[in-house]
Amino acid sequence: MARGIGLVVTEHIAGGMVEGDSLCGEIQSNGGNDSLRAMPAQDLLTTLAEEAIALAGGQSIDAVGLAFPGIIRAGVIEDSPNLQQLKGLAIQAAATDALAALGMRTEVSVYNDADVIAAGIAATRGTLERPAGALWPAITRVWTLGLGIGFGHYPVAEGVWEGGHTVVSLDPNENFCGCGGRGHLEGIMGHRAMRLRFLDREPDEVFAAAKSGQDPRCAEFAILWHRALAAATATSIHLEGPGKFYITGMNAQFVNLPFLNRCVQEMVKMSPLQSYVFEVVARSDDVAVIGAAVNALRSCR
Ligand SMILES: [Zn+2]
Repeated sequence: MARGIGLVVTEHIAGGMVEGDSLCGEIQSNGGNDSLRAMPAQDLLTTLAEEAIALAGGQSIDAVGLAFPGIIRAGVIEDSPNLQQLKGLAIQAAATDALAALGMRTEVSVYNDADVIAAGIAATRGTLERPAGALWPAITRVWTLGLGIGFGHYPVAEGVWEGGHTVVSLDPNENFCGCGGRGHLEGIMGHRAMRLRFLDREPDEVFAAAKSGQDPRCAEFAILWHRALAAATATSIHLEGPGKFYITGMNAQFVNLPFLNRCVQEMVKMSPLQSYVFEVVARSDDVAVIGAAVNALRSCR
């Protein structure tokens, strides 16, 4: 059975070994957000290579899948607002060299962190392969609601796919997105953006006040927050068709699914596009690590 290693770099590094489509052994986790942000790129590469060697435990490895936040194309991290030292790094070549320096010669692939969550969900739900008679596997799309907003997609597709920066408002005052762009989904839904908007309250206090009905500003914002996610999802449905959308991340707890569905129903009216569904899934390192490894194993088949 093909054996791969997945290493996912977000606020920390999570890694694991995967055989077939399943995790074997424990997930290893290390580092915190601040330590990774301050770590020079070369040190981070060395840390990842050492982690891969430790996870392999002397067994042969067919592929290593790495995942990072940001725009990643053709093995290069073109931009990564949360790990700026990696911007412009040809990570696939550099990681291949770092592994070879420690004696591991294997295929290395690099993905966006939200895309590996989509692949991991597909792996754990048994939807990696195309169904009998279909030309392609079903599309798995996932919104990750964290400090920023990620949009993951399986199967891996050419393109940029920065769905978190979908424009969902034409109001020029909507300027809280981490990228600096106005009217972006992340500028409304992102944790960092919410803290900028409500300087005196944490997001959980905002949603609690909205629920209690005692604070009109918070109630209005909770509606905007859901309509923003509905709008970005409607755009994705209008571009790529209906299907299943997963929602995960630390702020997925604030999602009111019946209300979100009503918002999307107002925005998507064409009859062939009606078969969409949302599901909230718990954020776990396991899913992302499995996704990184299965994507890598598939790309080197
Ligand atoms: Zn943006």
